[in-house]
Amino acid sequence: MDNSGKSQVLIPRYLCELEQEANIHVNNEGLSPVEISWEKGFVSNIKSIKEGRNLINKILFPRFVESHAHFDKSFSWMNYPNLQSNYENALSVNLEEHVTRTANTVLKRAEKSLNLAIKNGYRAIRTHIDTYNFQDQEIWPKLFHLQKKYSEFLSLQFVSLAQIDFWGTNEGDLFAKNFKLNNGILGGVLVPPFDRPRIIKNLSDMLLLAKKYKLEVDLHIDESSVEPGSGMKILLNTIEKLNSNVKVTCSHSSSLLLLKDNELTKLADKMLKKNITVIALPLTNFWLLNRQEKNTISRPVAPIKQLQKAFIDVSIGSDNVQDPWYPFGNFDPFYLMSHAMPMLQLNPWDRLSLSAIFNSPSRLLNLNWDGVVKKGCPADFVIVEGNCWGDIFSGNIKRKIIIKGNCYKK
Ligand SMILES: [Zn+2]
Repeated sequence: MDNSGKSQVLIPRYLCELEQEANIHVNNEGLSPVEISWEKGFVSNIKSIKEGRNLINKILFPRFVESHAHFDKSFSWMNYPNLQSNYENALSVNLEEHVTRTANTVLKRAEKSLNLAIKNGYRAIRTHIDTYNFQDQEIWPKLFHLQKKYSEFLSLQFVSLAQIDFWGTNEGDLFAKNFKLNNGILGGVLVPPFDRPRIIKNLSDMLLLAKKYKLEVDLHIDESSVEPGSGMKILLNTIEKLNSNVKVTCSHSSSLLLLKDNELTKLADKMLKKNITVIALPLTNFWLLNRQEKNTISRPVAPIKQLQKAFIDVSIGSDNVQDPWYPFGNFDPFYLMSHAMPMLQLNPWDRLSLSAIFNSPSRLLNLNWDGVVKKGCPADFVIVEGNCWGDIFSGNIKRKIIIKGNCYKK
């Protein structure tokens, strides 16, 4: 039958919900052998089965969610390389590239990114798009068209990444008003050094505008190895002063790692009270930040475990793909997972590690499905050949993508 199927697979125990309460089998690596069936695009049954070791050679994941991408510049590295590989030069090469950007180049990059992402196993992506005043206005209708065109396969969410002062201008207001119609999100960058009075004013304007049009905010914040957590502190003070309840996501939050333990605990507590969510972006942080001649490794990245311990929802995202900010990557969730988990010392068999890759990003993007495989959920899977985490992280995987119960072929 069409969009129906049945398979015996291993699935991370924390990524599935079984109706039975007893006789659930889980191996040492947290993988459960199950028999899963789906009909008309939805899971109709999933039950734990007893299976001798290594007989099942398939591992099933829910399709992935990317919480932070930059489609507008992806694959621009070849023409605009940043061979110094630091943040400052990335910014200047990015600006150089930006003046040559046209609606068509952006569209081509976005479409290439989308096709790769779907083929590799993503079901939803939040992407930032650089926005400089009205220079880019012809890009947006094309991007919204693309969003619709691909909606059957992938849900796409846009963040308009502008300089923060843009949101206090009349053009910014008009932009936000139109953006609301397409469920967009307001973006900006908050990294030191700060001109405090000016940044507080700009941030206030941005939060008030988001409130006016009921929009969310996603900031690139504290992507730095200096002034630990100073952007976050300014943000929290501004939210408090305005008594704002706009939903704010803090992408990067890298320098928080450099705070003393007790300072981080206090700050995390305030973040929780203000409902701040965090996206950790280890690939670009480890690549760009705090490059030094001396042979020490000191790389700031959001302190994921401490933040999770403080009950803050943390997602792990990829950030840039083959552009001046990061020369590698290819919109492959297994590339991200295989690099991020070892570098951040996250055990793939722990619930919170899987949550940062699968469930938190689903919540962040307000998706209908949280990524837990259970009866009634969409039959949206990535099925990988293998029987252990070593196979998953081998860098050489064979995968099958199931979308709404059907095998995706492209
Ligand atoms: Zn970014």
